[in-house]
Amino acid sequence: MKMDLKKLFDTVGASEPIDCSLDFSKESLYGYAPFQQPVRVTGKIENRAGVVRLVFSVKSDLSLRCDRCLKAFEKPVAYTFSHILVRELSGEDDDTEFVVCADGQLDLGELARADLLLELPTKVLCSEDCKGLCPKCGKDLNFGPCECKKDIDPRWQALSDLFS
Ligand SMILES: [Zn+2]
Ligand SMILES: [Zn+2]
Repeated sequence: MKMDLKKLFDTVGASEPIDCSLDFSKESLYGYAPFQQPVRVTGKIENRAGVVRLVFSVKSDLSLRCDRCLKAFEKPVAYTFSHILVRELSGEDDDTEFVVCADGQLDLGELARADLLLELPTKVLCSEDCKGLCPKCGKDLNFGPCECKKDIDPRWQALSDLFS
C-alpha cells in the first residue's frame, strides 16, 4: 500500500490518518502462514515543525502452530510502531527509527509487514506447560500419558551389558 506524502512533507502542521486492512495471507514464516486473518492498521502521519512522524497500530489474529504438540491455534495480537519519516538520510541519521521515503513515497504495507515480522515470536507454544507429543508413538501427551515403555537408550544398554 503506497502513500504519496509529498504534500505532507512540505506542509508543517499537516496530518494524514491511516485506517486500512492489509492482506498478508501469502506471507509464510517457519513453514506456515501466520496471517490468515486481515491485519488492521490504524494510525497517523503528522508533520510537526517539519519533523514527519508516523505512529501506527496493527491488530490481527495470528494463526499459529504449537512447536511442541503441532496444534493449530489463533492468538490475538496488537502492536504499536513509531517511525520518523525522512526524504533522505543525512549522514548521522542511521537510526532504524528513520524510514526513508524516496520522492515522498511511503510503502506502508511493506513497512507494516517488516515491523510485524520482527515482533513475531520464534518459539510458539500453545501454552507454557505444553507437554508435546511422544517422540515414539506421536500421542499428544497433553491428553494423558501414552503406552510406550520408558526404554533405555541403546548406547547406555551396551554400556551396562559391559559391566554386568
Ligand atoms: Zn502445544
Ligand atoms: Zn508414546
